[in-house]
Amino acid sequence: MIVFDLACECGLIFEGWFGDRGDFERQEAEGLLVCPACGGAEVRKILSPVCRYCRGQGGDGPPAAAVSPETKAMELLKILQNYVLNNFENVGPRLCEESLKLRYGLAEERNIRGGVTPAEEEMLGREGIKLLKIPLPVKPEEDA
Ligand SMILES: [Zn+2]
Repeated sequence: MIVFDLACECGLIFEGWFGDRGDFERQEAEGLLVCPACGGAEVRKILSPVCRYCRGQGGDGPPAAAVSPETKAMELLKILQNYVLNNFENVGPRLCEESLKLRYGLAEERNIRGGVTPAEEEMLGREGIKLLKIPLPVKPEEDA
């Protein structure tokens, strides 16, 4: 995969994903490049100052250097997961109870994570406690 920054005459700049440079050139020649905003076909490739994926090391690098949007999202999720796993105390099914204790100053201030039932979540919501829900990798030894 290769990513080009494309610019439409309407002013929109967007990313185009192509199998390779030839794929881009073929689509350009056949007028298949269409602006997602205005639908216009006056789309041209603009030069990216630095390849955002390989940081300038070889521009149109090998396919392995390209990252799909899904992969980027998964990497971000992994970073978030690691942060939560390393910085939040796992209180497991006591999340609701512990959140309320924190809320009313009955427990030491700290970051906690765990699970709640839908009813608990609703109750916490009424208390003004918002939960951030992210999928975490299942660690059987922790959930015991
Ligand atoms: Zn446009």
